[in-house]
Amino acid sequence: MAVNSIIYGPVPSRRLGHSLGINNIPPKICSYSCVYCQLGITLNIQAERQAFYEPEEIAQSVKEKVKQVREIGEPIDYLTFVPDGEPTLDVNLGKEIELLKSLDMKIAVITNASLIWRADVRRDLQKADWVSLKVDTVSKQIWRRINQPQKSLQLEVILDGMLKFTDSFKGELTTESMLLQGINDNGGEIERAAGFLAQLKPNIAYLAIPTRPPAKRTISAASEQAINTAYQILGKRLSNVEYLIGYEGNAFASSGNVEQDLLSITSVHPMREEAVRELLRKADAGWAVIEKLIEDGNLMQVEYQGKRFYMRRLPRPIRYRMLK
Ligand code: SF4
Repeated sequence: MAVNSIIYGPVPSRRLGHSLGINNIPPKICSYSCVYCQLGITLNIQAERQAFYEPEEIAQSVKEKVKQVREIGEPIDYLTFVPDGEPTLDVNLGKEIELLKSLDMKIAVITNASLIWRADVRRDLQKADWVSLKVDTVSKQIWRRINQPQKSLQLEVILDGMLKFTDSFKGELTTESMLLQGINDNGGEIERAAGFLAQLKPNIAYLAIPTRPPAKRTISAASEQAINTAYQILGKRLSNVEYLIGYEGNAFASSGNVEQDLLSITSVHPMREEAVRELLRKADAGWAVIEKLIEDGNLMQVEYQGKRFYMRRLPRPIRYRMLK
């Protein structure tokens, strides 16, 4: 692949705003072969770092792209390493980040964290401003089932590496946990993950579901009920938990339209019934708004520990797959 074709976007990202993507790994080289991967099965599974492209060429291509994007007046909030594989397999990742610092823009890396036990990988990631670590589970058997890691990798060493990283990282640390129906969406499993995440102390812990066709067709997203339960369990241990369930943009933006505001908020986290009533009161609107959103299939009511919550319905493609 030509180096100039590995820079893409900017694409809208709920977490990162306008994100210019850097695909620093040829497709699809990864240390995992996640059952939910939207890129299909891993063709080349490896845990050894190597050089793929010349760092200077990557940096030059990014600089040219940034210039072009600025010329047409488009904003860029982050330069993001989010390749068709695992970005830390690139032994030049740290050098590439350093070369990009001259642009004085924020740099993000979305990693599966499988190599974070290595001091050189932690050093590279420390150069970024924003890092997302994958924490789908802290149970070895479930990890093997979901992430299907390269066979030399060990979960306990990876989790320990994440804790070492959080001790020294000065940027914004986030985590991403994919919830899969019948695999890692039960209360006990979520409690264990919450215990680890409480030690890791991410700025935001994101709860995700697969929103595009997964590598393994039998995989389904966790239900709205299970996602809400996970949110509540994590919310007891962590200060900031958010959904990442397939709706980009407009989160928390007050549009002046109470329906839109409700959908924006509930795509990020569930709302307690009292909070919904308060929002409606401020907007001088009645409960009929909620009934219509439920009837149109945009909102749903879920119960947790005797309390009623309202959350956004999951994106439709996954629901259709779940019905099969
Ligand atoms: S870590 Fe990411 S790229 Fe690798 S298999 Fe999992 S989802 Fe796909």
